[in-house]
Amino acid sequence: MDTFSITEVCPHDIAVIRVLKSVATCETTALFCVACNKQLTEAKTEC
Ligand SMILES: [Zn+2]
Repeated sequence: MDTFSITEVCPHDIAVIRVLKSVATCETTALFCVACNKQLTEAKTEC
């Protein structure tokens, strides 16, 4: 899993992309903080 620096959003500095939904070939993903479990970006769907 890729990690990102997100210190501008919350005090923690590690985040991961999680798949929220997977439909056929489309995946909805968003970036979440590992430490506080906060969603840091809007959900994005890629097909
Ligand atoms: Zn955090």
